[in-house]
Amino acid sequence: MSEQEKGKISVETENIFPIIKKWLYSEKDIFIRELVSNACDAISKLRKISFSEEFEGGTDYKIELSFDKDKRVLIIEDNGIGMTTDEVKKYINQIAFSGATDFAKHYQNAENKAEIIGHFGLGFYSCFMVSNKVTIETKSYKKEEKGVLWESESGTDFAISSIDKEIRGTKISLFLDPDSGEYLDKWKLKDLIKKYCDFLPVPILVDGEKANREKPLWSEEPSKVKPEDYKDFYSYLFPFSGDSLFHIHLNVDFPFRLQGILYFPKITHELDATKNGIKLFCNHVFVSDNASELIPQFLTTLKGTIDIPDLPLNVSRSYLQNDPLVKKISNHIIKKVADRLSDDFKKNREEFQKNWNDISIFVKYGMLTDEKFFDAVKDVLIFKNSEGLFCTLNEYWEKNKEKNGSKVYYANETEMGSVYMDLLKSQGLEALLVDSRIDSHLIQHLETKNTEMKFQRVDAELADQVVDKDANPGVVDANNQTEADRILEFFKSTITKEGVEIKTESLKSNEVPAVVLMPEFMRRMSEMNSMFNREDAKNLFRNHTLLVNTSSPLVKSALREYGGANKEKGEKIAQVIYDLALLSAKAMSEQEISDYTKRTSQFLADILSKN
Ligand code: ADP
Ligand code: MG
Repeated sequence: MSEQEKGKISVETENIFPIIKKWLYSEKDIFIRELVSNACDAISKLRKISFSEEFEGGTDYKIELSFDKDKRVLIIEDNGIGMTTDEVKKYINQIAFSGATDFAKHYQNAENKAEIIGHFGLGFYSCFMVSNKVTIETKSYKKEEKGVLWESESGTDFAISSIDKEIRGTKISLFLDPDSGEYLDKWKLKDLIKKYCDFLPVPILVDGEKANREKPLWSEEPSKVKPEDYKDFYSYLFPFSGDSLFHIHLNVDFPFRLQGILYFPKITHELDATKNGIKLFCNHVFVSDNASELIPQFLTTLKGTIDIPDLPLNVSRSYLQNDPLVKKISNHIIKKVADRLSDDFKKNREEFQKNWNDISIFVKYGMLTDEKFFDAVKDVLIFKNSEGLFCTLNEYWEKNKEKNGSKVYYANETEMGSVYMDLLKSQGLEALLVDSRIDSHLIQHLETKNTEMKFQRVDAELADQVVDKDANPGVVDANNQTEADRILEFFKSTITKEGVEIKTESLKSNEVPAVVLMPEFMRRMSEMNSMFNREDAKNLFRNHTLLVNTSSPLVKSALREYGGANKEKGEKIAQVIYDLALLSAKAMSEQEISDYTKRTSQFLADILSKN
């Protein structure tokens, strides 16, 4: 053996071990990620050099993991660029160790130690936490350089000597400590490679078997990727998810580097939407399944990969939150997604409409949470109207604003088939279909953005067009009351339930004797309160208006009975009219339905017995 040079790293690093030991207790595995990504970096560097320089040893690049169970040694070997003696001193003794010292400093100052533990990259140094002893045997690709052996047992003291090493590259041997025997298992190692290094663009062999997929599709030139490649990649990443709707390939060089593929999944049930489907990579190395700092929450329903080489993704999460680059990246992604939606809308509206069901939730959520996104997609927000056709808000507005006054009518699925809708339709009016809980929030938001529009639920108030303002109020009686006045009085004295207000109008359609109107404000409140249950909802309808149609023949006959022949019968008919109005508004509680059924049966029995 040639002359050995010994040294000590620095005094500070000595207290680092207990800390890092503790850290690795939770994320011990990541030393594999660090060493293999270093090996991959070494190969990438050599690949670049190969374009301009000649070197011996071929270009059959690979990384090999092997182990010796008896000696408890795990070996990670690459045929990359290698290191000269000076480079070992510089990169291992200084840089790698300064990273570790840095970690210790952070750790000591950090308020939340748990956060630092597990989110700080330690690079090469992390191997010491599973090893009693580590050796590096390395030979630079430069022909004239000799091989170097670097050894360290403590992690703070090292020895360097030259050795005979023919093969270019670096071989790192870890003499595993008694607690780390699990890394002498082929399956364990394969699993870890799959998890962290699956997309590293170099073959990785574990005990002679290929262990990674390579082919990080996101790094390829988008114009060169075939549609089926995107499809295959999606099903590789997310098996059993079916096909995606469409995808966006992100490829940015400036002002930051970012590559990735975002897929719009088919959401089969609501739970899917909460799953975190975006995998974060740093230079092809998997970092995390949690992209919440990088991408806005509404986009977390998307699936795919994002690779940001310049961002230290393995550092603490709070650090990420404060990095100005993160905001820029997030804005870029939002813009790309919005652009894609507008493009699709313009280029192929039919297809866009077909996908709407699957993407609407996330578009709406995005519009509510992000101003920029709102502005970028507001013109592609579509609704189904009461005719069953898709339209944008503006299209609805342009078509109906004259007729509607300033109103934008809306209804949910059940209300679409209601008496209220029949009344609107009879006057040639249209409503927009709201189909999810998020729509209530969205409508509130749209109202503040389009101050000229007044959104009104179809059962909140009757449209002016439905009311016959010029109707004849009917015969005036001895008390100077019109028929309309008498109808109002009749219902007021008959329907005396608390919270119910009685009004009369002459409706253009005389088939409907009465309707119940729900205050818009209360309605919105109830819909927005996601905790509400059915009974609460019914209670909310306790305050409402009963609007009696003075031109209904049924109402008129009831009044005649009430004021003459049979007062009691008149009252019973009024009650039935009210019951029917409540029923068509689907606003009866269980108790009310049961009362109603009893009352009506009794009423029918009475009629039969009197005939
Ligand atoms: P980083 O990878 O972030 O630079 P590391 O602590 O992981 O920090 O590694 C420190 C340095 O050691 C690397 O930058 C590289 O120059 C050198 N190095 C580590 N592993 C290898 C290897 N397998 N081949 C060549 N150089 C290596
Ligand atoms: Mg590294």
